[in-house]
Amino acid sequence: MKPLQIAIDGPSGVGKSTMAKILSRRLGIMYLDTGAMYRAMALKAIRSGINPGDREKVLTILDNTDIGIEFENGSQKVLLDGEDVTEKIRTDEVSMGASAISAIPEVRVRLVEMQQKIASGSPVVMDGRDIGTVVLPDAQVKIFLTASVKERALRRYREQKEKGILSKTLEELEKEIELRDHNDSNRAESPLRQAEDAVLLDTSHLTIEEAVDKILGIVKAKGFADAL
Ligand code: C5P
Repeated sequence: MKPLQIAIDGPSGVGKSTMAKILSRRLGIMYLDTGAMYRAMALKAIRSGINPGDREKVLTILDNTDIGIEFENGSQKVLLDGEDVTEKIRTDEVSMGASAISAIPEVRVRLVEMQQKIASGSPVVMDGRDIGTVVLPDAQVKIFLTASVKERALRRYREQKEKGILSKTLEELEKEIELRDHNDSNRAESPLRQAEDAVLLDTSHLTIEEAVDKILGIVKAKGFADAL
């Protein structure tokens, strides 16, 4: 039997990574955060003085950029040319850069190939924008998460405030989320869209735990949780 693949897609700030991480722990299977790979690529461009949206320039660094994924005690570490950049890719600048660089087809081809390789052979929860449609089109469980822009901005605002890294107003965060939504949904290459066979889950009025329980319910209802 093919290893269980759970694809979780949805827009920025909807809670994909947090939910996917908890889900993978509860099921005891690997979790791959694909956004982190686009973020690492964006960080490389920024450090090289290249605009992440400039395709021609990005292509000049693509072949000599090494993105690595390692797992330590179940957590994912992202390596850029051998350096651990797991924390450094979480800035707003890198978020916007990742959104721009992910529209470049050659970047996607390269990272999708890596993602498919990592997933081959063992059960996985993977989150991103194109997991159910492109990366793992045969995934047995596909979830598409949504939440209103207001709710997602508010979550980010609280998260940044808690971490003491808040530098924007709620309105500015809303604008940023809207812009990333627009970029992700309107790009020619693998735009963000719900796979036909994905289950839509609106998390606007759900806590993280409630949303994870709902996803677990879907996994169990399909009879996959027992096979692990
Ligand atoms: O999920 P996260 O916010 O970390 O992703 C950063 C950016 O990478 C997103 O805005 C999106 O443009 C891009 N991305 C993508 N395909 C994926 C994962 C992320 O295009 N599978």
